[in-house]
Order: sequence, then C-alpha cells, then structure tokens
Amino acid sequence: MKLKTIGMLGGMSWESTVLYYKDVNEAVKRELGGLHSAKILMYSVDFAEIEECQANGDWDRSTAILSEAALRLQSSGADFIIICTNTMHKVAPQIQTALDIPVIHIAEATADELLQHSVKKVALLGTKYTMTQDFYKQKLIERGIDVLIPSEQEIEAVNTIIYNELCLGIISEQSKQKFLDVIDQLSAQGAQGVILGCTEIGLLIQQKDISLPVFDTARIHAEKAAKLALG
Ligand code: GLU
Repeated sequence: MKLKTIGMLGGMSWESTVLYYKDVNEAVKRELGGLHSAKILMYSVDFAEIEECQANGDWDRSTAILSEAALRLQSSGADFIIICTNTMHKVAPQIQTALDIPVIHIAEATADELLQHSVKKVALLGTKYTMTQDFYKQKLIERGIDVLIPSEQEIEAVNTIIYNELCLGIISEQSKQKFLDVIDQLSAQGAQGVILGCTEIGLLIQQKDISLPVFDTARIHAEKAAKLALG
C-alpha cells in the first residue's frame, strides 16, 4: 500500500499541532499495525505573526503567509493540505486557489461527522472569528445543521481563554468550569452536541466531562487526513 503524504500547516498554535501529529500517526498505526506511521510534511508558522494579522483584520497578509507555506508543502510532495486550525479556514478558499492539491476543510469534515451522528442542532465553541463570522458556520448551515453560539459576553470570555491560556499551554480548572457552564446553557437551548471548534479546546474539555456528545475538530480533522492518506 502506498501512503499519501499529508501536508500540515501547523503552529496555530503548536499546542494543538502536537495533537494532530499524534492523532494522525496513531490512526495510521491502528490501521496498518507494526511500525507503520504517517508520511507528513509540516510547515509550522510563527503564531505571533498570524495572531497579529487576525487582531489587525489583515487577512490578506495571513493569506500570503499561509499560501506561501502551502506552496512549499506542495512542491515538496504533499498530496493534500490540512490547515491545523479552525479560525484560519477564513482564508482557506484563497489558499486553495493558490494550489493544485486539495485543502481538506475542517468544517466540512466536522459536518460529515455531525450528520453521521444525526446531530442537526449543535453548539459551536471557538474563537470569536469562528463563532461570529460566516466562513465556518455557513459550511454547517449549508448541510442543514443549526448552529448555536454563546452570548456576546461569553464569546469574549471563551475567546480570551483560547488566546491567553490554551494557545500558551495553560490549562485552568476555572476556565474549564466556564466552558462547562457555557455548554450547559447551549444544551438548555436544544443543542444535541458541541463542536470544539478551536483545535486547542480538547486540551481543556473531553467527552468524559459532559454528557452532550463532543465533536473535537482537531481529532476529526486528523482522522480524516489519516483516512485520506490510507486511500
Ligand atoms: N487553533 C485555534 C482554532 O482552531 C485558534 C488559533 C487560531 O487563531 O488559529 O481556531
């Protein structure tokens, strides 16, 4: 069997890229056994530069940085690309335009998983960009999935925890409780599942913490990449 080579755009943040790297390799090992592991090319960016672009609304600059990185992965032999963050899928269409190989969209992979579990109304937690803008939610809505997001104040709180703690590898009990409270409220509004729509949230919340089905986008995306690599 010829494994395809996965091109990973990582470092956003590296705390979650580590999870991707591990999950993809575990999936390949589970399937092929023995000493088999995934073929991966990775370009890990300096996240401070990307975050600065986000904060300034300079999506063109982040598009340029990520497109250049993706082109390098393509010319080095990647068969497809995964962008290891939900937020930066805001510029996924532009990155795709620069490439000949496919970009495997994290929200599309997540929507497939939700539909497989018959979830038609879902809570979405992520950065403020992912929760409030259309680029991500639209992928779910297009497939007939209703998306619930927290109140304005809680969007701010969740966003702050992501950038000031999770992306720095800081895991706090207080922040975990905050996330659990927000999930409870969205569950009371009828959510049938919760999307961990930021690749670091899995560091804080896991399925064992809540009864609502959890859809961890980093896991789902990594599994999808492994499946495609296995052919
Ligand atoms: N990894 C996060 C996400 O999945 C946030 C970091 C970023 O802004 O890219 O959205």
